[in-house]
Amino acid sequence: MKESEEKFRSIFENANDGLMFLDMSGKVLDVNESAVRIFGRSKEELIGRHFTDVCAVSPEKTSIVETSFREVLAGRKFILPLHIKNKKGQEIDIECSASLVQSEGKALGVIAAARDVTERKRAEKELRRNEERLKILFEYAPDACVLFDMEGNFVDGNRAAERLLGYTRDEAIGKNIFDLEVFLPDGTEKALEKLAKSVNGQPTGPDEFVLIRKDGKPVTVETRTFPVRIEGRKLIHAIARDITLRKWAEEAKDKLLSNTSHELRTPLTSIEGYARFMLSGKAGDLSEEQEKCLEVIVEESDRLGGLIDNFLDLITIDIEGLRMDMKEVSIAPIVDRVISSMEIELKRKRISLSKKFPSVLGPVRGDETRLNQLFSNLLSNAIKFTPTGGSVEIRSRMSSEGIIVEVADTGIGISSKDVPHIFERFYQADSSSARKFKGVGLGLAICSEILDAHGGRIEVETEPGRGSVFRVVLPQVEEALDGE
Ligand code: ADP
Repeated sequence: MKESEEKFRSIFENANDGLMFLDMSGKVLDVNESAVRIFGRSKEELIGRHFTDVCAVSPEKTSIVETSFREVLAGRKFILPLHIKNKKGQEIDIECSASLVQSEGKALGVIAAARDVTERKRAEKELRRNEERLKILFEYAPDACVLFDMEGNFVDGNRAAERLLGYTRDEAIGKNIFDLEVFLPDGTEKALEKLAKSVNGQPTGPDEFVLIRKDGKPVTVETRTFPVRIEGRKLIHAIARDITLRKWAEEAKDKLLSNTSHELRTPLTSIEGYARFMLSGKAGDLSEEQEKCLEVIVEESDRLGGLIDNFLDLITIDIEGLRMDMKEVSIAPIVDRVISSMEIELKRKRISLSKKFPSVLGPVRGDETRLNQLFSNLLSNAIKFTPTGGSVEIRSRMSSEGIIVEVADTGIGISSKDVPHIFERFYQADSSSARKFKGVGLGLAICSEILDAHGGRIEVETEPGRGSVFRVVLPQVEEALDGE
């Protein structure tokens, strides 16, 4: 008997819950340390007090506590959640439970337990708040967000999804996306492929689809999907962005650009063509003066043609960035082609050109046409700004940074005040030389865009009267470096 009493005492004292032993009127006879901690009152303060006085803070709560106490006396159990302010002024959430203690059919008193659930309540509240936040993010996301099961049945969707497809959530939930006939025939095939990928647990996209809305109107969307697991269930989270307007604008811009270059190019081709025709003498004899005038027309038309090309090129780059067709390419053959395209000009100016390339030069990842344009611009500048009889060298080497190609000339050089500006659009060193040397000042700006797009850079070393070295650094293909 003594042993079990001691056991009970130890359990009572060490329990995590605040325990109070009450007499049949509800007066506190004994409390443990946890009760002292929870209610913020000393043992002496608690003992002798009425149970309701310890637990309840408002008259309304007092009556609930009293009712519950009567239930206990009648042999029933209860759990009562209470929000109380303890003696120390701390607001805490407790869960009270109590039961009658009986011995040999005689009621000895009531044991009441108070469990501090403040932390649990706070976590639950935080979880609810997070859920609400996420729900709002999902509901009001500007892109359509839809959850599908692995067969393609709608599980849930947000407002943007309703707007995009024209179906209400209730109309769509439970239906299969393929039964709603939102895809065009080729879209169905592609969507099935994407679904198979999602079922395999892979994300998909960005992909473009034309979807047919409930009202029959088409919308162009860009989609991405992610495999997700919600409450143990595998689902697909699909996000669709309406890009109908963007597509329309892109097409309109493409049309505008190609029309503009066409409209500008056509009359120029006629002007140059007729001037050349007259120069050939087929339209009649020409005086020396007339011949000179026609030569100027041909040259200037050529220049204007170059300007239109470069100008439209830069506008296109500004609007949509450089469209690059990246492949592994070797620099040497590109440079060879550029050199041979300039042979006539080299001969005309009696410029000696040497090419010094190492026997092995790893490939770079680049766009061949753009690299051709880069070296054409640099070499034609070197020839243009080098007086008759000078020399140009184009050389290459490998460095830790990548492949270096230098175009060095013995030309007029660039003054230090001009150097910082030569890569700017329409910048030409000085107007008198700009008049002497034909050009529009867009070549180096384009070179710099091309190098940016390749992750490379361009720099210049120059001295007026002695010449310039334009240095291009292009990152080398990694695998090739390892293989060397
Ligand atoms: P453009 O050659 O059509 O004038 P670029 O953008 O190619 O335009 O060059 C800008 C300016 O940089 C040129 O007008 C010239 O003043 C200077 N420049 C470029 N390359 C050289 C060079 N190799 N030697 C001297 N000056 C150069």
